[in-house]
Amino acid sequence: MNLSFFAAGAAHAPVNPWVALAYLVSGIFFILALRGLSSPSTSRTGNRFGMAGMLLAVATTLATHVPMIEGDMQNSYAGPDFVLIGLVVGAIALGAVIGVTTARKIAMTSMPELVAAFHSLVGMAAVLVGLAAWLNPSAFGILDAEGQILVASRVELGLGIAIGAITFSGSVIAFLKLSGKMSGSPILLPMRHVINLGTLLAIIGLVVAYAMSGAGGAGEGLLVVWITLAAFIIGFLLIIPIGGADMPVVVSMLNSYSGWAAAAMGFTLGNTAMIITGALVGSSGAILSYIMCRAMNRSFLSVIAGGFGADDSGGSGEAREQRPYKQGSAADAAYMLEQAEKVIIIPGYGMAVAQAQHALREMADLLEEKGVEVKYAIHPVAGRMPGHMNVLLAEASVEYDKVFELEDINSEFAQCDVAFIIGANDVVNPAAKTDKSSPIYGMPVFDVDKAKQVFFIKRSMGGVGYAGVDNDVFYMDQTMMLLSDAKKMVEEIVKAID
Ligand code: NDP
Repeated sequence: MNLSFFAAGAAHAPVNPWVALAYLVSGIFFILALRGLSSPSTSRTGNRFGMAGMLLAVATTLATHVPMIEGDMQNSYAGPDFVLIGLVVGAIALGAVIGVTTARKIAMTSMPELVAAFHSLVGMAAVLVGLAAWLNPSAFGILDAEGQILVASRVELGLGIAIGAITFSGSVIAFLKLSGKMSGSPILLPMRHVINLGTLLAIIGLVVAYAMSGAGGAGEGLLVVWITLAAFIIGFLLIIPIGGADMPVVVSMLNSYSGWAAAAMGFTLGNTAMIITGALVGSSGAILSYIMCRAMNRSFLSVIAGGFGADDSGGSGEAREQRPYKQGSAADAAYMLEQAEKVIIIPGYGMAVAQAQHALREMADLLEEKGVEVKYAIHPVAGRMPGHMNVLLAEASVEYDKVFELEDINSEFAQCDVAFIIGANDVVNPAAKTDKSSPIYGMPVFDVDKAKQVFFIKRSMGGVGYAGVDNDVFYMDQTMMLLSDAKKMVEEIVKAID
């Protein structure tokens, strides 16, 4: 079996200009995909560009690297290796079936954990490609004249394996936390900063030692094994102390890592398309992490250092003191909504769970027919993934010009008659502004307390939001709790308005 097939365009082989052009075009498609995905109105086109770019890149790689049976001195004929071609096509088909089935089955609310699981695969792929290149460097075209792995390739290999292993173990922990298979609370080891910094410095030292070592043999092998093990451990250590509201940033940060791991492997494989794609994923993930940190008023370094959300007191309904609140019915809400001039709807995770977006749209349409101005306010971390609410509202065909970001609409609560909170909680919690001990302190939140009337849909007073803390909005004079499943409550309001 000729392994050079897997080294798609081995590092030092001359690149066919048509192949380079095809990779360049696929790179342009990926950039157009990212541009399209930056707005709900163009996101479908963006997705199509991404699919076309990937198809072109994969087809080019396959077409230019048809696996051949190696010839020998007696028989120089080298025909196509159909066993290997079959294995590759079979693997692609199997991956496609698993991908399509999973994507069709997955609930929108479980998307973050699916994304984390997918990132772990990218990380593991980078580790395996790195190890394969180290074990069989001649197939990857990364040997110098003396038969040693080139220094530049050692650096790429070491970094690719390290970033891939960090991405893998970090993503596995993120998956376990997001899916509730492991406690979402931070696990704080004593002296964790010293341990983490020490392990990171050790990995850098090991990569440098591997790059400088030229002797090959057992000593060099040991360095590669240590890089891999230390990186698996640091990925685990970096994510276990992160909890509560910082998980969204972690997911996008791991997205970024998986991109850099792929880019490093692109250098090892000499595959331009992989370098471009990896760099795009790596940098867009880093920018998204930065934007989310800004949205939550957190510094990137403090998120990475972890430990946020450690105090989850108040997380259980029973532990909280009983405070008086007002409860209303769908009929009460419908009556007051019809009287309002301006209503701002704040959707959150509960709307996604209840799949209430279509009923909500119907309610908004009815109100608009009655002359009420209706706007939607979207918090950057509402729901469980970036853009979660935008996707759901787009699914219900809510016009984009009625959907506003936090900074664009927050000043309007003072002039609105009803703030209609549906399944949101943390993103409207005033403790983020006032209570320094709160795990969400510092996150910008909607100023719903300024609205004349607040309707708050959730299922029970005991339930809490992601950060597990009580919310003073429940107990405000102008708040009416509408305790029910979100879809059921909105459907009842729709009936009452009719
Ligand atoms: P929250 O998680 O704060 O609150 C969800 C609310 O929905 C709860 O009050 C819950 O109360 C209610 N709810 C749940 N199911 C239903 C239902 N079927 N019908 C009606 N209500 C329901 O949501 P937010 O969107 O306000 O905040 C998002 C939080 O998630 C933030 O802390 C954010 O940091 C975090 N996060 C965000 C991610 C992202 O990328 N956007 C990723 C991971 C975490 P009850 O149980 O009583 O019904």
